[in-house]
Amino acid sequence: MRSALSLSPMELVLVALLGACLGSFLNVVAWRLPRDESVVLPRSHCPRCGTTLAWWDNIPVFSWLLLRGRCRHCGAAISSRYPAVELLSAGLFVAATLGQSQAFGDSHALAVLLGGWLFISLLLPLILIDLDHLWLPEPLCRWGVVLGLLITAIAAPKLLLWHLLAASAGLLGFEATSASAQRLLGKPALGLGDAKLAAVLGAWLGLTGLGLSVMLAVFSGALFGIAGLISGRLKRGQPFPFGPFLAGGGLAVWLAGNGFWLQQLGERLGWSAL
Ligand SMILES: [Zn+2]
Repeated sequence: MRSALSLSPMELVLVALLGACLGSFLNVVAWRLPRDESVVLPRSHCPRCGTTLAWWDNIPVFSWLLLRGRCRHCGAAISSRYPAVELLSAGLFVAATLGQSQAFGDSHALAVLLGGWLFISLLLPLILIDLDHLWLPEPLCRWGVVLGLLITAIAAPKLLLWHLLAASAGLLGFEATSASAQRLLGKPALGLGDAKLAAVLGAWLGLTGLGLSVMLAVFSGALFGIAGLISGRLKRGQPFPFGPFLAGGGLAVWLAGNGFWLQQLGERLGWSAL
């Protein structure tokens, strides 16, 4: 097995800061992309009074804490989701740095590291947009597939065909499942966006990683659905986005590696050969 990059605590703090800043940008992407606004310009502004934020009011997590979650000018509440996403992104960046992704076999650690950061930056806005709009934007998914295959070609050329196959299998598998579920139930069960997201996961994780992600997504999605029905937060037949579960499964597979999840699965099913 390849050795992970060994970073000093100070370097890990820098990675966390980078993750928090990226998370701040991904918040903007998740807000503006569905509204057809540019993700670069204009600079961040208060959605109520429109005042452009000074850089010191735009520091990830800290500004929100200092301002106690309110706009400095008009006092409008700023959602706690912004600092939460920034913290999550920081944590994921550090986890990807310490993790042992096996998506590219025993490829070079630096390619896996940068690839991991890119993978997180693609999946976080998809999760947020699907939560808000029950929609996975096609351009973001298309870029996700292209970048996944490109990084695979650079980091592990031998696996490119395997990942290409996985991307097609994800797309076609989900579309076929969706079509047959629609015939059985008489209504769409899965969004077409889910098929595109599955293609993204295939391009990044390969066939085994895709299979594990889908399993984790189905399991956690079912748990969420049952808990929602029991607690009364979900009504029978009320749709909820599946994309966050798929993306979450993909991240879990990236961070912990195929071997870890195969072993978990083996223990549950009583396989010893794995
Ligand atoms: Zn304001």
